[in-house]
Amino acid sequence: MISTPQAIDRFASQLPFGVKAAVYEGTRAPTVWRRDALARDYANPDALRKLASQIKQHTIEHLDQYLEQAAEKLSANGVEVLFAETSERAKELALHVMQRESVKVVVKSKSMLSEELHLNAFLQKNGIQAVETDLGEYIIQIDDDIPSHIVKPIVHKNRRDIAKSFEREGLGDYNDDPQTITHRARKHLRREFLRADCGMTGANFVSAESGRMALVTNEGNARWCVTAPRLHIAMIGIEKLVPRDRDLGVMLNLLARSAVGQQLTIYTQFLNGPRSPGKDGPEKMTVIFVDNGRSRVLGSNCNEILRCIRCGACQNVCPVYRQASGHAYRATYQGPVGAVLSPLLAGKDFAKYADLPKASSLCGACNEVCPVDIPIPDLLLRLRDKAFTEGASEAKRGTPPMAPYAWLATHPQVWRAGIKASNLGNSLPLKLSPIPAMQRWLGPRDLPPFRGGAFREWMQDRKNPPA
Ligand code: SF4
Repeated sequence: MISTPQAIDRFASQLPFGVKAAVYEGTRAPTVWRRDALARDYANPDALRKLASQIKQHTIEHLDQYLEQAAEKLSANGVEVLFAETSERAKELALHVMQRESVKVVVKSKSMLSEELHLNAFLQKNGIQAVETDLGEYIIQIDDDIPSHIVKPIVHKNRRDIAKSFEREGLGDYNDDPQTITHRARKHLRREFLRADCGMTGANFVSAESGRMALVTNEGNARWCVTAPRLHIAMIGIEKLVPRDRDLGVMLNLLARSAVGQQLTIYTQFLNGPRSPGKDGPEKMTVIFVDNGRSRVLGSNCNEILRCIRCGACQNVCPVYRQASGHAYRATYQGPVGAVLSPLLAGKDFAKYADLPKASSLCGACNEVCPVDIPIPDLLLRLRDKAFTEGASEAKRGTPPMAPYAWLATHPQVWRAGIKASNLGNSLPLKLSPIPAMQRWLGPRDLPPFRGGAFREWMQDRKNPPA
């Protein structure tokens, strides 16, 4: 009898791929299953969620005060503290610090903010080599790809894809054994840690009370980034603050459970300054607090999204994300959180992402699992309303105009003929389509067979049951 999520993982790992997928589907995705099981550690998990929500909402409503307090504490601890209002300014500041410290190679821990700023390309253009050290992010980097999930950036790849990439990069002959892949990555990345001049990280949380930063990873790469190189730069979104050290306990408990279904991440690290007598760490430390549109979000009617702790739980349960995959969102943040955050952070380019809030059935699963109780469906409706009132037209947003659809839907004969014709699409080799956008879309995906008209046939059969 399988009684724990870990036992399911162990059992499923021995099975052929197709059977494994069926086992996981039967028990829901493993992360979701584990998350649900761990919630039972608490007598009243909802109370913890409400507390986390209140802590984060209080913080963003007093952000100016807590930012000032955190900056004072960090400075007193010997950290250089800088503020950047825009993406360009944040990158300039990071480059300035690196050039001042004669940095040539940077090792980076996973950071969604860095993805948001497109930092790697900028550093490379300015003669600084950036090496991602989270295994998923490293694979994204060598494949010149983009992440498709906040926590699991290569959820769209399998071990055979990764083995081919490693072979291409000269990390060994083709071998798709997961242990071999991770050993090869470890050997390669250790050399990078040791030759780097600078380590870059984000921070999962920063306590305003002490300036203490919390960094969590399951691979220990953030620990390497802040101990091996002589300089540490942390680029942190201004919404990452919490008021007190004790709030970190609440947040860390919820983050690991919601993100990966663990009680705690394997490596949880607290930093509050550079090396000093009796204290280990980098020789120098710089913190850059980045706004990049967050103040604007704070002043909007969707500011609850700034509570987000980037756990990815809403992505794991979203029926749209799970079918469309992260790349369909065309933005750094995907899934329900991305459908809210991407248009808001885009500012004057709101129209570019104004279609994303429509990528939701409003089923509410995202809100149900969100550890900080963000009312995502409500925010999606507010953004749909904003798109409508600002007249971000369908055509401008790159989505198909609805007028032809309306005509089709109101002409039943044409509709039925269209459905019949669409069934033919199942036998067309769509992957060989000459349209580049179609090729890109269908390259990593298989379209489920079109089942047009199935409902009508089913209804017809019900009306005429066999004698
Ligand atoms: S919106 Fe909630 S569930 Fe989604 S990533 Fe943020 S904290 Fe996690």
